Amino acid sequence: MMATSGKDCGVKDGAPVCCNGSASANGAGPEASPSPKPLNGATVRPEGFTFTPQPTIEDIRRMQAEFTDERDWNQFHQPRNLLLAMVGEVGEVSELFQWRGEVAVGLPGWSEEEREQLGQELSDVLIYLVELAEKCRVDLPQAVLRKMALNRLKYPASKVHGSAKKYTEYKD
Ligand SMILES: [Mg+2]
Repeated sequence: MMATSGKDCGVKDGAPVCCNGSASANGAGPEASPSPKPLNGATVRPEGFTFTPQPTIEDIRRMQAEFTDERDWNQFHQPRNLLLAMVGEVGEVSELFQWRGEVAVGLPGWSEEEREQLGQELSDVLIYLVELAEKCRVDLPQAVLRKMALNRLKYPASKVHGSAKKYTEYKD
């Protein structure tokens, strides 16, 4: 979590904060216990990992709408503010990864506390993303379906398999 300074007083993470956020790992060196590397260049896959079915994106929208309504915070939660808040939360996620070097799938070597913190910051990003979509009247689940369809057209598996090139670099 990002350290807060006196000028950060206000609304953060959808909740009031004033001047006393938890300390961050700002400036910390590389992690003490380095992550194990995959053997022989093998790809580590998150085999068997799935999300639980609830809450849905609509559940998250509703929970955040109730949270915001109960606090009379809609006056602050306009699209531009929500966008900036979300970007700030992306920064807080980034802080957890900085100074570590490459991080393998499954986060080997991360403590439970670090994993919990990552879950919290990723949740902040998602909550603001969902509220931003709501306030912009974007039906996010349907938009995701359309975008995935577009991505499949832009990156046909038969053409791009194993390649990291951008779609503009492919020639028919
Ligand atoms: Mg946060």
